[in-house]
Amino acid sequence: MQNMPSGSVLPAGSRKTEDPVEMLRRIYGYSSFRGQQAGVIDHVIAGGDAVVLFPTGAGKSLCFQIPALCRDGVGIIVSPLIALMRDQVEALKQVGIRAAAVNSSLSREAFGEVRRDLAKGAVDLLYVTPERIMTQGFRDLLGETKVALFAIDEAHCVSQWGHDFRPEYRELGELARLYPQVPRMALTATADPHTRDDIIERLALGRARVFTSSFDRPNISYEIVERNQPRQQLLQFLSRHKGSSGIVYCLSRAKVEETSDWLNAQGIYALPYHAGLERDMRDRHQDAFLKEEELCLVATVAFGMGIDKPNVRYVAHLDLPGSVEAYYQETGRAGRDGLPSEVWMAYGMADVIQRGRMIDGGNSADEIKRVERAKLNALLGICETAGCRRQAILAHFGEPHAGGCGNCDTCLKPVDTWDGTEAAIKALAAVYRTGERFGTGHVIDVLIGNDNEKTQRFGHTGMPVFGAGKDLPARTWQSVFRQLLAAGLIRVDHDAFGALKLEPEARAVFRHEREVRFRKDRPTGRKAERQSSAGAKGARSQLDETDALLFEALRRKRVEIAKELSIPPYVVFADTTLVGFATLKPMSHDLMLEVSGVGQTKLERYGDAFLEIIRQHDG
Ligand code: ADP
Ligand code: ZN
Repeated sequence: MQNMPSGSVLPAGSRKTEDPVEMLRRIYGYSSFRGQQAGVIDHVIAGGDAVVLFPTGAGKSLCFQIPALCRDGVGIIVSPLIALMRDQVEALKQVGIRAAAVNSSLSREAFGEVRRDLAKGAVDLLYVTPERIMTQGFRDLLGETKVALFAIDEAHCVSQWGHDFRPEYRELGELARLYPQVPRMALTATADPHTRDDIIERLALGRARVFTSSFDRPNISYEIVERNQPRQQLLQFLSRHKGSSGIVYCLSRAKVEETSDWLNAQGIYALPYHAGLERDMRDRHQDAFLKEEELCLVATVAFGMGIDKPNVRYVAHLDLPGSVEAYYQETGRAGRDGLPSEVWMAYGMADVIQRGRMIDGGNSADEIKRVERAKLNALLGICETAGCRRQAILAHFGEPHAGGCGNCDTCLKPVDTWDGTEAAIKALAAVYRTGERFGTGHVIDVLIGNDNEKTQRFGHTGMPVFGAGKDLPARTWQSVFRQLLAAGLIRVDHDAFGALKLEPEARAVFRHEREVRFRKDRPTGRKAERQSSAGAKGARSQLDETDALLFEALRRKRVEIAKELSIPPYVVFADTTLVGFATLKPMSHDLMLEVSGVGQTKLERYGDAFLEIIRQHDG
């Protein structure tokens, strides 16, 4: 293995002259841009600002890396996670890009080195934390260095609305004033419009072009089960994932510890992660997760942001996540490499009660509590849908999907339903007649004819809809509303304190043009368990038996190299590249370059080591 080359992968004078597609091939070893990558890249190279809203795994990193290489000067990447910067920088060095990071963990000498390299123009990409970038010290560090662009990664951290709010992100809007000539980009995998608006406003990106792509993650298989014997259910789920890594989310620190201990006792290699562990141990466990290939990380939601391990094969939730947004983000950590991955959740009524109590018992303002309750309901809608889970998740983000994805539990094993058209019409009428101004609780009171202070005060007791739904219990109406929400027939207006509003689609139901079916609860117990899916084994599931043997041998070689260099295995080559080697069996350097993920620098470094394994397995 060679050491780091001191020069850049960019030949002298290649900037501006090399076409981005050519760069993509030569440096990264990919044959073409995906989706809107090329659009973003061209726009930023030309000097434009951009807001990039692509899901995890879509390839946001290239959207700032390539323009930074094409433009004069250093690309500055704002990233919130010091613990991950080292790996990000290392991954870039592996493809021959001159990357560096400045953060509080940097030694004096290392800092001096970055300063000298910057002055020489010998840094292509510089990672920095949001608190650091705004300091005079950082501006001094940049000195006369030209800045190619600013890329603000994990840009949703700017929004209080979102799940990872970081006050330091608020200051980043100042960059517009300090560096008016430099293009700025904000990137995130968070889909909701509220967060997006916050990003644009807070980061002063009013003039930026917004790039959005579908938030569907077709390689992720969704499954949500009713929780009855959680440990056994979890064990059964994990048994489908022997030999791969994943995350198990729990709500509390105590449950993280207990679950991790229990899994180890069952012979499953697991480590805990939560904010209550000492920093040292937390970092060690995170590092193990990145470097080991067979680790189950049991964690609270404190874990995961910015984790770019591409081959996370599963994510399990033992408790209900905080919201659909949180569920989407947490499950989204699976399958960044595009290979089949499974996500699984076990939830029960206890979650709903506990969550409701946490919301009501907290000391947030009433307005915030209402928003939290509405978020909980939206998530329950997805848990309870009789339709395609993927369709329901995407509907939450305002993205249409035809349903019938064939890769979620309800598509693979349909649930029993009941004809709910009449009930739906009553529910929608109650929303409409009360002026689309009330939340679920009140509308249900009207439906079941609950004669209380509020229904009287608003004059709802005298309406024809009052008591029109007496035939069904309040609990069923709750379920009806959650399912109407998931079906996109109504929405919860967070700005109007969680009031239910009709969606245009509701009209078809009123006119009897659209039938509505509701999900019946699945019977509990093993019968409801889904058969192991073909996707369980990720990369290996795509290979026949002999190729799978070669894949395993290549994987062992990768671990060996990674250990030696003390870097995560996927930084050497991604699983997808090893699958390419195992199926195409390239016997020369030229043929190796044809495999996705093999660029010039990596070929020079690792080509021979893998070539040897491929040759050994030939014939
Ligand atoms: P994101 O930041 O959007 O979650 P990444 O930038 O980490 O996604 O990219 C996800 C994976 O896809 C990475 O392994 C990356 O190298 C790969 N990738 C990105 N763009 C392409 C492309 N055009 N062709 C092939 N692979 C790509
Ligand atoms: Zn589906």
